[in-house]
Amino acid sequence: PIAILWFRNDLRLDDNPALEAAVEGGYAILPVYIHAPGEGGRWRPGAASDAWRARSLQALAASLQTRGAPLRCFKGPSLATLQAIIAATGAQAVFWNRRYEPAIEKRDTGIKQALKRDGLRAESFNGALMAEPWTVETREGGPYRVFTPYWRTAFAQWRPPSAWTAPDALKGTGSGPRGVPVASLGLAPALDWDAGFWDAWTPGEAGAREALQVFVDGALRGYGDGRDRPDQVGTSRLSPHLHFGEIAPWRIVAALEAERNAALDGDIDAYVRELGWREFAHHLLHHFPKSVDEDFNPKFAGFEWADPSSRELDRVRAGRTGVPIVDAGLRELWHTGWMHNRVRMIVGSYLTKHLRWHWRHGAEWFWDTLVDADLANNTLGWQWVAGTGADAAPYFRVFNPVTQAKRFDPDGRYIARWVPELSRVPLPARFAPWEAKGRSGRPAGDYPAQPMVGIAEGRQAALDAYAAIRG
Ligand code: FAD
Repeated sequence: PIAILWFRNDLRLDDNPALEAAVEGGYAILPVYIHAPGEGGRWRPGAASDAWRARSLQALAASLQTRGAPLRCFKGPSLATLQAIIAATGAQAVFWNRRYEPAIEKRDTGIKQALKRDGLRAESFNGALMAEPWTVETREGGPYRVFTPYWRTAFAQWRPPSAWTAPDALKGTGSGPRGVPVASLGLAPALDWDAGFWDAWTPGEAGAREALQVFVDGALRGYGDGRDRPDQVGTSRLSPHLHFGEIAPWRIVAALEAERNAALDGDIDAYVRELGWREFAHHLLHHFPKSVDEDFNPKFAGFEWADPSSRELDRVRAGRTGVPIVDAGLRELWHTGWMHNRVRMIVGSYLTKHLRWHWRHGAEWFWDTLVDADLANNTLGWQWVAGTGADAAPYFRVFNPVTQAKRFDPDGRYIARWVPELSRVPLPARFAPWEAKGRSGRPAGDYPAQPMVGIAEGRQAALDAYAAIRG
């Protein structure tokens, strides 16, 4: 019998429960990828995400090829494509690993029902999470809205799955439509604006393993504090690999646990807790699907957001707000497809508080430019920073981007790296060049002389707007 293995955001072979089920079931395996970006609803994948996916699929195709079960790629719609392959091959089963984006969940439910009606064995698996959203409940039986109690429950009930290694040879099948090459799916950018990305990243399962090893050998030691330092390599940079399912979270946890000793306890716990935020984000996404577009906290319905003009949007996107740490982050994002978490928070706070833009504007820009763009994590991150979320920083906690920069980029190295106009400006003027007196404090080139909105002034305006809805 033939089983279609429908790859989606699980672009790996090891620790792949759908593949494991097909192998264990004795099926000949027909690996399929279907390009159907419109099926994700309003949040269709952005350009950086597509660029990553193109490379990750190439890596997956290469490792399936060497195992004797070549990947076949198609352009959607998904259900009709699966049905056509079934008709052509007589496949009896379709296996996949679950996704949790609201539009995709809905689509997948429909597809499963339709395939079962056609008499197929249609089965989905958990390939992405330590705790699937519906497996963690409050004592009253509902979803959690606050991280700490959520994670306490989720982690306590977690039983790590055992590692699974894909066999060197898979039983493939020669029959059926061959599909189109990955390159013709239209994922890779036509202009190579992404050229700068690939010094920093290797998409695919092998790249994910290597990134994990680099982290275990390096930044894991001291992660608890190092994770807040954008001027250092203090984090794992595994986020795009996790998003695309190139590595299972439980494989990461196992690798860290293998290193555990008294000196590393705090660092390992801190890291697993961050994975917990990822789990929590998926929990919220599943239980509160509207939160991808609407403020979680209904109080903000009456909030006076300032609508950005297209010129203001462009200024932010180009990293020319005039606030050095904010611009450094925005340029890191543009050049590498990633931004350090601490700086995502600083940028998010400046946009939603100082500029008073609805978080949607920042979320959309991140969505298009991040290689790790992830509907669960991005929504949670923006609603958290904006103060509109389930378990959010309160709105009145406005980050001061100058103080933050002094604390987390103390030598100004991160700023200098991404904003070369400031690399010769001495400290502390580099953190707030508008305060500098004399020539030496002046930025080079045409870097803005003043921030888009002043630090104290923007903070006050944000607090005033908040007082209006609170009263
Ligand atoms: P590490 O510090 O090495 O963390 C390990 C893993 O834990 C990460 O890979 C990630 O999967 C998870 N993680 C860490 N922090 C968080 C968090 N705050 N929320 C959820 N999961 C977390 N992360 C994304 O993966 N995709 C996004 O689209 C995204 N958008 C964000 C937007 C904003 C405004 C903010 C404040 C945060 C966002 N994050 C997002 C979370 C976080 O910034 C990134 O996951 C992290 O920077 C990735 O780098 P890393 O892998 O080196 O992190």
